[in-house]
Amino acid sequence: MTGGASPAPRAAPLAPGATIGVLGGGQLGRMLALAAARLGYRVHVFRPERDSPAAEVAAAATMAAWDDEAALDRFAESVDVVTLEFENLPVAAVARIAGRVPVRPGLRALAAAQDRIAEKTLMARLDIPTAPWAEVCGAESLAAARARLGGDCLLKTARGGYDGKGQLPVDPATDLAAAWRALGADAGILEARVDFEREISVVLARGLDGACAAWDAAENRHVDGILDATVAPAPISAALARRARAVAGQIAESLDVVGLLAVEMFVARDGRLLVNEIAPRPHNSGHWTMDACRTGQFEQAVRAVCGLPLGPVERFADATMHNLLGERIGEWRRWLADPDAKLHIYGKTETRSGRKMGHVTRLIGRAR
Ligand code: AMP
Repeated sequence: MTGGASPAPRAAPLAPGATIGVLGGGQLGRMLALAAARLGYRVHVFRPERDSPAAEVAAAATMAAWDDEAALDRFAESVDVVTLEFENLPVAAVARIAGRVPVRPGLRALAAAQDRIAEKTLMARLDIPTAPWAEVCGAESLAAARARLGGDCLLKTARGGYDGKGQLPVDPATDLAAAWRALGADAGILEARVDFEREISVVLARGLDGACAAWDAAENRHVDGILDATVAPAPISAALARRARAVAGQIAESLDVVGLLAVEMFVARDGRLLVNEIAPRPHNSGHWTMDACRTGQFEQAVRAVCGLPLGPVERFADATMHNLLGERIGEWRRWLADPDAKLHIYGKTETRSGRKMGHVTRLIGRAR
């Protein structure tokens, strides 16, 4: 325990026995807590909701609101380092904690990831291509943006969107006043729809010393805006895969990430690579690494945030990860009987349509 008001020195590694604070209580926190426990670390989860897949397996848990300052302070005093499993967190809460204990990845990465305007602006500054976009704040700016971007677009909330929520299509026939009302936000972006060949992502880890390790780029297939399956490695050329990893590395460096960063990209039909979204945390599209790589994303997150050397990320098998959404969790018996499948169930008590209840990774032969 590092108590007191001054954060631990940046370079000091935390040895097993230390406590990692995790902001957010979902399945990513659960898998992080399990990986941490295997390496001898304790995890203390902070989350507002009662039901929490992470709290169920953590050494300690706090259930309190993000604006409960006394609870945030007690949490910060009880942990040695803090990380996150979810990016739609109030920055004020994270800043309060960061005044007492290191938060990795830091506020800069969090601020860029939780606001699409900040995210797109960062990509422009780094000269990294994205879909053409415009900031919108009402029906009038939306009309100007549609005139500029053409007919086939997506309107997205600047903040709080996930799994395809907080976005709606806009075409030349769309009633823009109604669309703006339906979005229900005070800031957003209009984005040209990309004619993509496929969607890919790169998940990487960056250590305290700035060393980066990126897993192979994987292809992501979405259904209704929610990730359905990930295919690793993505069936793309070696040159494109290298470029995707380099882009992710450039973003991680610019944000001084310590921990994990996931970068979602479109491969456009004309071969261009366009960044869609970033997430400074373990990512659904990185689950395959737990079973198919020498170091999985959750163990790597623990290594990075504790200031330990990163593990090797080579793939020893190709893999396909399937999310078990909603009622599909009922397929668990079938997957359990498949010798090539590794089953992960998140222990959520309530099954809802589209809810991520578990996932399965199928190992496909040896690595190519
Ligand atoms: P997002 O919340 O931005 O990750 O969007 C969720 C999913 O919607 C993406 O994974 C894509 O399948 C789709 N999508 C988002 N933005 C675009 C776009 N500009 N062009 C085409 N499809 C998109």
